[in-house]
Order: sequence, then structure tokens, then C-alpha cells
Amino acid sequence: MNEHIVESTEVYKIYSHAVLLCLAAHVIFTLSFGFLQMYPMMFYNVFSVLFYLFMRVTLSARRYRLTVSMVHLEVAFFVTLTTVYVGWEPGYVFYLIALCSLVYFCPYKNIYVPYLFSLGEMLLFIGLRLYSDAHEPVVTMPVNASKYIYLYNTAACFGVILYAAYISNLSAVFSKRDLMETNRKLQSRVNHDELTRLYTRNYLKEKFAEAEESSFLTALVMADIDDFKHVNDTYGHPCGDYVLAAFSTIMKTICSSKADIARWGGEEFVLLFKACGKEEALQCVQNLRKAVSSYEFRYGGFEFHVTATFGVSFAEEANDLDALVNLADERMYYGKKNGKNTVISTNKL
Ligand code: GH3
Ligand code: MG
Ligand code: MG
Repeated sequence: MNEHIVESTEVYKIYSHAVLLCLAAHVIFTLSFGFLQMYPMMFYNVFSVLFYLFMRVTLSARRYRLTVSMVHLEVAFFVTLTTVYVGWEPGYVFYLIALCSLVYFCPYKNIYVPYLFSLGEMLLFIGLRLYSDAHEPVVTMPVNASKYIYLYNTAACFGVILYAAYISNLSAVFSKRDLMETNRKLQSRVNHDELTRLYTRNYLKEKFAEAEESSFLTALVMADIDDFKHVNDTYGHPCGDYVLAAFSTIMKTICSSKADIARWGGEEFVLLFKACGKEEALQCVQNLRKAVSSYEFRYGGFEFHVTATFGVSFAEEANDLDALVNLADERMYYGKKNGKNTVISTNKL
């Protein structure tokens, strides 16, 4: 998931917001230490503000690993320095706990790296507690100031933890959305023939099952381009491909509102007519036959005509797809033997 996340621009935005938040926090620290006349800490925080401005530059260069590592180090350094300077009471150490919740920001190949950061921060938290018990702070804060800063720091840390949870949810949403999009593209690739963009044979079987379940199936048509080998032999294989694609477009234009259309193989196609009357389906196939035969195919300076033969079987004549296909196929072959460019919908034997 993480490598995937790092790719997306949304993640850049998340990192960017996080760095901006850190920057804003250090502006507030700069002002508060300035107000308390604790100038060394004020100057350190001015440095931190500059540091986070620089982090925005490293982010723009998509140096996520560097940025996240530096942010962890800066926070750890800031908390250590502040706790040594003003003591445990104002609660700066809580930023270490807040930082641990940012494990979601993991641009590392090894997913355990952020846990190592968290472990280090926990040890630092304990170390600072022990240090504070044994040492007086360099400067003692006024009690009231210490209390209000403690409350502010606690609230800010809760804010960071909530923000981390929000990011985590957002990442899950992004991942799911990307996964669904990939899935949709894969499905489309699997279900459609590459050359003609018609359904594949397998997908038509699914469509047949659906149509049968809802009793919507009217007729099945087997269509075969006449003398297609001649097209290939005369004008070349790429021209044959063009004819297949153009023939498919004509079928889609004329029949797709009534039928699911699949490339059955080579220059053979199956149309499944649904939710329309038998006459309507037959009329549609006749219209298709006429449209194909009158269409002027143009390719590489050649202009020529192509015809197709159609065999039709009706839903009530058989119970399964194979039987309907066989029946339509037999009728189509009858048409082939008897002049081609025709629609055969009854047994002529
Ligand atoms: P008929 O009128 O009896 O249907 O004759 P036909 O020439 O159309 O049929 P035949 O089965 O003899 O030849 C079909 C040809 O279709 C042979 C094969 O090379 C060609 N073909 C199959 N798939 C493709 C394809 O994807 N592209 C091209 N260009 N040709 C293909
Ligand atoms: Mg053919
Ligand atoms: Mg054929």
C-alpha cells in the first residue's frame, strides 16, 4: 500500500499539509517563547520555521524519506531541548507521543522503519522523564504560563493524533478507489476484444446467462464476413483488421440498442437480441446486412465492398447457448452455400 501511496499526488498534499502544520506550530512556539522572553528557545524556533520551509523544498523534490526522517529528528531534538530548558511541566514531551501516531506516513520500503522511529521516541520520552526527575530546568517558567502551555500542548497533541487517524482513513479511501479503478480497467480489458472493442466470447456467455435468467432473450445471430480471406489476400492483413473494426462499428451502430455483440473468433460474430420482438430482431439483422453491403470500405487507397451472411436462431428453439449457436451456425452455412450476403432464420434442409 505504501509504495502505491507515495506515487499519488494526494499523498504529496498530505505530506505538504503536515509540514505546514509543523511550520505553523513553530511560529506559535517562536511567538510564545518571545513573549516569555526566553530568547534562546525563541531563536531555536525561528531556526525550526526555516527548517520546515526547507522541508517544503525537499517535499517538492519528492524526497519523502528524507523529509519524514528529518521531521522525526527535528521533533525529537526540539522536545529534548525544550524539556532540558524549561522542564517536564509544560508538556512538550507529549509531541513525542503525537509523533508516534504518524506511522501512516511511511515512505520507506521496509514498513518496520516507522516502528523503529516510534520505539526511539518512546525511549527518549522515558529518558527525558528520568532526566527531568534528576535535573532542574535551565529556566523556570512562571507557573501560570507553564499551565497554559501544558493545556495548549496537550490539545495540539490530540489534534495531531486525530489528524493522523484522518490521514489513515483517507489513505484507505485512496487505495480502495485506485484499486477499483484498476479492477475496472482490467475487467474491461478481459471482457472486450482488443481489435473490435466488442465483447469477448466468454463475456457473451455471461451476458447470455443474464438474459436467460431474466427471460429477455429473443434471438441469437451468427454473422460471418463473406470471402474475408480474399480481403486479406488482396489488400493485406492490416486492411483485413480495418474491415473487422469497421464491420464491428456498423454492427454496434445498428444493433447495440437491442443486442449484445461479441467477436466469436476470426471474422465471426454473435449477436444476442434481448427484450425485443422476433420480427424486430430480424428487421434489425436485415438492416445490418444492407448497411454492410452498401458501405464503402476505404483503406490505403483501396475502395471496396464487403458482405456478410447471417444465421438466426430463436430463444424458444433451444435451451442453451451452444445449441442456439449451432442452430444459427447451420443456418449461416446454408446461407454461405446459397449465394452469401443473406439472412437465414429457418431450417432449409
Ligand atoms: P466465407 O465467405 O466462406 O466465410 O470465406 P472466408 O474467406 O470469409 O472464410 P475463411 O474461413 O476461409 O477465412 C477467414 C480468414 O479470416 C482466414 C484468417 O486468416 C482471417 N482472419 C482471422 N482472424 C483475423 C484477424 O484478426 N485479422 C485478419 N486480418 N484476418 C483474420
Ligand atoms: Mg467468412
Ligand atoms: Mg468464418
